[in-house]
Amino acid sequence: MIPIHSYDNGVYAIDAQYEQPLRAAIHFILDHGHAAVIDTAHNPSVGLALQAIAQLGLKREDVDYICLTHVHLDHAGGAGAYMREFGQAKLIVHPRGARHMIDPSQLMAGVKAIYGEAETKRLYGDVLPVPAERVIAANDETPLALGNRQLLCLDTPGHARHHLCYYDLAAKVVFTGDVFGLSYRELDVDGRQSVIVTSSPVQFDPRAMHGSIRRILALQPKALYLTHFSQLRQPEARGDDVHRLIDAYVAIAEQAGPDEEGRCQRIADGLWRLYDAEARRQGWTLPRQQMRAILRLDTELNAKGLDVWLKTKRRNDHVTLFHDGDSQRDAGNAGGFAGAAVNGG
Ligand SMILES: [Zn+2]
Repeated sequence: MIPIHSYDNGVYAIDAQYEQPLRAAIHFILDHGHAAVIDTAHNPSVGLALQAIAQLGLKREDVDYICLTHVHLDHAGGAGAYMREFGQAKLIVHPRGARHMIDPSQLMAGVKAIYGEAETKRLYGDVLPVPAERVIAANDETPLALGNRQLLCLDTPGHARHHLCYYDLAAKVVFTGDVFGLSYRELDVDGRQSVIVTSSPVQFDPRAMHGSIRRILALQPKALYLTHFSQLRQPEARGDDVHRLIDAYVAIAEQAGPDEEGRCQRIADGLWRLYDAEARRQGWTLPRQQMRAILRLDTELNAKGLDVWLKTKRRNDHVTLFHDGDSQRDAGNAGGFAGAAVNGG
């Protein structure tokens, strides 16, 4: 038996055991003998997902959908393995992410460029391709029928341009991937939760992220389900935190200035000061050392992502003076799926 977090309205979660406990969740939605899985973490988690489905009283054929919020490998690294085991399922993914699931070679090359061959292999093993005929490239508001309920795909850029959230109309909850940030349970104080924005490489877009947060909150969800880590209550109040932190990240990046030499470190230093302030604001009771250990990898990734954002912004500011920016922006981010986070984001 593995522990299964059981929430209201047929929503469940397990810990993917990704790198550390309670870092990445795999969510399940059950309705009248049908199931959807939201995000797949890495290959080794597929055994846990199979076990969870059995414990929940279903057969593997009852899984109709494997839904990806985006193709960063802490969310999608296991997708090919899941599709092999859940033989009746369709893979739901943003149109910009679909080809990378059908042929993961470009995605893997991008990840190896950042983490190196050995570390990529250690973390993710062989990322398996998904047969094209089982992939549904879902646009904004694509509906998914699951048992007696409906899920709605929401195109929600900000963390990545190919990011989807899934709105469960029956449970009135939203599965938010990474666009609503991360919420680690170790930082809870007497059940009070806090949230940290993720700006991991390479497509952080603060304006789009603000827009996606507003869109999610406009649905007045009862709760959110974050991949890192699971149920977030009081979406409205935490949304205020997210908006405030996005602006703080932007200010930290801009204060780090145009000189690219050592800039990543200056941004990381700024983020640590922000997290110290957040610790005081939220009344985190963990000793500072432990807080830093929990947020270390995220801080590195967030700093890298903000550095990339400054470079891209500079290029686009220049480009838009002379051209239409969008095609240039895409070209500038070729291989832009490299931002698969090691831990969070
Ligand atoms: Zn993530």
